[in-house]
Amino acid sequence: MAEFSIIETYFNRPRPDAVDLGVGDDSALLTPPPQQQLVICADTLVAGRHFPLDTNPHAIGWKSVAVNLSDIAAMGATPHSILLALSLPQIDHDWLKGFSQGLHDCCDQFGVSLIGGDTTQSPHLTISVTALGWIEQGHAIPRSGAQVGDYICVSGQVGDAAFGLDHLDHPLKQRLDYPTPRCQLGQQLKGLASSMIDVSDGLAQDLGHILKASQVGACIELSQLPIDAALTELPQQKQWQYALAGGDDYELCFTISPQNYQQLLQKPLNTPIHIIGKINNQNRLSFEQNGVDRSLHFHGYQHFAKTRD
Ligand code: ADP
Ligand code: MG
Repeated sequence: MAEFSIIETYFNRPRPDAVDLGVGDDSALLTPPPQQQLVICADTLVAGRHFPLDTNPHAIGWKSVAVNLSDIAAMGATPHSILLALSLPQIDHDWLKGFSQGLHDCCDQFGVSLIGGDTTQSPHLTISVTALGWIEQGHAIPRSGAQVGDYICVSGQVGDAAFGLDHLDHPLKQRLDYPTPRCQLGQQLKGLASSMIDVSDGLAQDLGHILKASQVGACIELSQLPIDAALTELPQQKQWQYALAGGDDYELCFTISPQNYQQLLQKPLNTPIHIIGKINNQNRLSFEQNGVDRSLHFHGYQHFAKTRD
């Protein structure tokens, strides 16, 4: 089967009305809504590095979309469409069927269209997705807006996926394979959150990006970290390791003034949020346990570090 029939069979599923021209021409055509900015991001998954080679293809398809929608959500934007650049070592129909189904399932769940891409042969299975979204001009939530006195909040639970990676038979493995991008919450935070990031490389490291960009410090109250019951049975150091340095959470971490937090609570939130700390004017990230200082140091995931892969 040639490249074109792979595209036709698995990836040409038009969603009428969403785009002016989708899969099948040299480029896709979109009409941006008036007064909106285009929000774009890309993320690549490499087999053997971002997921084990024997991972369920449906989960790979889902996750390759979800991680990008999480980045769109972290700007406060509304996701619109994706492009898929797929490099395959060989044509494996069972794999392509599962993968494309997972990808379309995630697109359908969040109202996103696959509008184009590229299909090539390469020795390594590599999946690169580009996501596009919209946001009202000037309303994107950057990493750089955190203010002293803001609450630091995180959605859902942290550490689930890292725990799942170490306990492959545990139900939390689902959180590793099928992350939920917090698309609705991201949009609800527009006009309210002062800064935001999605947590992909560990909460401590990703919050660190907000602190650096905003030139502020923060204190985290360890007892307030939202963790699964399965983690609470572990020694505390291990719990904190998963919650603060585990990767693949795809939760939103944001800062918000106390007044705006009250406004946020008036909205119908489908995702739980927790206040886990406060922004301060110190030059570092510190940790407290029930108000008592604890010195902890965490390193999240780094692609070119010698240690973890
Ligand atoms: P070109 O050679 O002009 O780049 P291609 O042959 O690569 O065109 O692709 C043909 C059409 O199929 C294009 O519209 C492209 O966006 C789309 N396409 C190619 N691969 C994929 C894919 N994996 N998923 C979705 N659309 C794809
Ligand atoms: Mg091409």
